Amino acid sequence: MLELDGSMGEGGGQILRTALALSAVTGQPFRLRNVRAGRAKPGLARQHLTAVLAAAQVAGAELEGVKLRSRDVTFRPRSIRPGPYRFTTGGAGSATLVLQTILPPLLVASGPSEVVLEGGTHNPFAPPFDFMERTLAPLLRRMGAGLDLVLERPGFYPAGGGRFRTRVRPTGALRPLDLPARGAVVARRARALISALPRHIGERELDTVAALLTIGPEARALIEVDDPVGPGNAVLVEVICEEVTGLFTGFGERGVPAEDVARTAAEQARRWEAAYVGAGPHLADQLLLPLALAGGGAFTTVKPTAHTETNAEVIRRFLDVDVTLDALDGDRWRVAVG
Ligand code: AMP
Repeated sequence: MLELDGSMGEGGGQILRTALALSAVTGQPFRLRNVRAGRAKPGLARQHLTAVLAAAQVAGAELEGVKLRSRDVTFRPRSIRPGPYRFTTGGAGSATLVLQTILPPLLVASGPSEVVLEGGTHNPFAPPFDFMERTLAPLLRRMGAGLDLVLERPGFYPAGGGRFRTRVRPTGALRPLDLPARGAVVARRARALISALPRHIGERELDTVAALLTIGPEARALIEVDDPVGPGNAVLVEVICEEVTGLFTGFGERGVPAEDVARTAAEQARRWEAAYVGAGPHLADQLLLPLALAGGGAFTTVKPTAHTETNAEVIRRFLDVDVTLDALDGDRWRVAVG
């Protein structure tokens, strides 16, 4: 039984999700104490509970201590069960973070899966659906995975109600990925999602982003959600490069002007472009696990976040691979797994 301490590193849900994924893949049981010790409301929140229960179904796992606000969780997996699944986070809990938990085992399963996830699809502090689809999925396909994601409706905090579908077709072992740089910029695009809010919010966001990053009218889209269940807004800036697509998000928030929401997304995009690295800060933490499953690979990135360092540490505990994070020059780092 691997013993993990949830107060380590990032101190939030990341250690739990990564441990669940790696435990399901390796069959190694674990116990996690001090679950989300670094958060104001520690223990399992609803969204983490959904992730544990989803991982337990996928891995046929036995659980101990799994209930809302629990701070001590034991997970004993049996074997990965591909197949059709449907998971709902309840309210606007992040559905993409549930996928982050169960995708690694489904990628190495013995057969295909189709997963419907319901809840929040565009939440602050979680990968928006578009990041999974545009940034992460193409890289996983390059590593040999069959993977398609389809957004059926966006869901925002606090009402939720979003839904997306993920089809996974494993193709044997994942291949290592080498991402030394982003390559040249091929195109930039911007989209604003609007749910039960005035159109002008999205129009102002697109105008702001377009002015800051030089995006022509043909590469901008305002998408209004049909039959909205609640208000919500996100602006998504996509920078398509030769080797990878960067996707940067501003999340609409009551009391924050649309122009500021847009500027946040544009500035993240600009910083990533200027660094010339392969992975932005979020992609870096999300790529580590697939690379570890492939047994190797490397990418350049900006200064590693606590999420990346935590994932590196959890990977070292579960797998016999080395993860190194080395500063290069300026804001550039090289992360290697092998
Ligand atoms: P948490 O531990 O709940 O803070 O989990 C955060 C996870 O969501 C990490 O994998 C982050 O890389 C990811 N994440 C947060 N914000 C974004 C974003 N704007 N774009 C892509 N991924 C994100």
